[in-house]
Amino acid sequence: MPLEVWIIFTALVVAAVLLLPRILPPTGPTCTRCEGTGAVNERWPDPSKPGGWHELSGKCPKCDGKGRLRR
Ligand SMILES: [Zn+2]
Repeated sequence: MPLEVWIIFTALVVAAVLLLPRILPPTGPTCTRCEGTGAVNERWPDPSKPGGWHELSGKCPKCDGKGRLRR
């Protein structure tokens, strides 16, 4: 095979290896913060926050809304 084909082939393999973990969903354990739902609805007293309450609802920050953690 000509050298150019090998360069393109190698570039494609490197790109696939780098991109595949981003495309595929995480296969690790279920997220403990949202229990696999990917969404959180938290509210508890927190004196360090303005207003004295910790409030968070929507996408889970621990698993980024995926419900599972990366290994
Ligand atoms: Zn989560």
